[in-house]
Amino acid sequence: MGAGGVGIGSILSKVGRMVYGSNGARATALSRLKEQEGEDPFRILIGTILSQRTRDENTTKAVSNLFARYGNAEELAAADEEEVKKLIKPAGFYNVKAKSIIRVSRQVLEEFDGRVPDNIDDLLKLHSVGRKTANCVLVYGYNIPAIPVDTHVHRISNRLGLVETKRPDETEGELTKKVPRRYWLELNELFVRFGQTTCKPLGPRCEVCTLRPVCKYYREVVSPRQREKSDKPKLGGVRRANI
Ligand code: SF4
Repeated sequence: MGAGGVGIGSILSKVGRMVYGSNGARATALSRLKEQEGEDPFRILIGTILSQRTRDENTTKAVSNLFARYGNAEELAAADEEEVKKLIKPAGFYNVKAKSIIRVSRQVLEEFDGRVPDNIDDLLKLHSVGRKTANCVLVYGYNIPAIPVDTHVHRISNRLGLVETKRPDETEGELTKKVPRRYWLELNELFVRFGQTTCKPLGPRCEVCTLRPVCKYYREVVSPRQREKSDKPKLGGVRRANI
């Protein structure tokens, strides 16, 4: 499958070339966490909860403050909530997030013998863990193929025409049917970086994107707009009395 008949492998390698060749390219907060901490599923789980509704740089700050003080599920389960709030403040929504990460740490200890589950069904039993977080734990914490769908993956998949969906969970369902499993581990990281640098939510940088020939959004939205602009009569030389 693919956009405009082009395979997903070719799309991902083009995205990879754009992402890694871009000056603005940064590793996502989760891949940085994976590099720093190794594949520690507990830290990936907590990092993913902290990353909800915040920017990557804020997640990274909150995560390093937190883990410098509380290193594992046992310590965090017994943590002082007020102190946790202060440590994770950079991540925003720190009142709710402090409660969530303490609660989820207790649950990991009490219900899963201190080990973060490595399957989607058990992960979804954890407090404040939805499909995106669960899939992030599988990919970044366990190297188990899955497709975490956040706002970037959802938007880009639809723009390219890989899927036609309204909600991220539908996108995940469609992508897992259409994208061969061998690409699942890399898809999230590539699309998130691509969404941060090129295929931005507002004002995608289509002029520098090598996917223009296969992109549905470019074909159906961007290109007609450009044509419309260039077809408009120039008013510069027309006398005002004629307008
Ligand atoms: S052509 Fe534009 S809309 Fe399409 S993938 Fe590239 S940046 Fe995104």
